[in-house]
Amino acid sequence: MKGLITICSECRTPTELREITIEFERKGIKAAMSGIPAMVCPSCGQEYVPGEVAGDVIDTVSRTIDATEALLKRTDHRRRELFPDRSELPPERLELALVPGASS
Ligand SMILES: [Zn+2]
Repeated sequence: MKGLITICSECRTPTELREITIEFERKGIKAAMSGIPAMVCPSCGQEYVPGEVAGDVIDTVSRTIDATEALLKRTDHRRRELFPDRSELPPERLELALVPGASS
């Protein structure tokens, strides 16, 4: 991949290529996406996600959250029927994982 940050701009330590998890919160829906390649500083923990990857991930997660919001609205009514005595419903959470070799 081009444009990778190989030296940490915070502490000048050489970075390492790792897979990280990025968490998003949008419209009250939390989403975590793991398996994202990024350059990570082993010293200070700074993460550098290549812009190309970050843009693609954010695009995809945004669309997925929009679709999930519609789905959650439809299922919320049913959840309240199933758990009538539960005043606090668990927070909606969407988890996405990149599975190697499973791309279509
Ligand atoms: Zn650093």
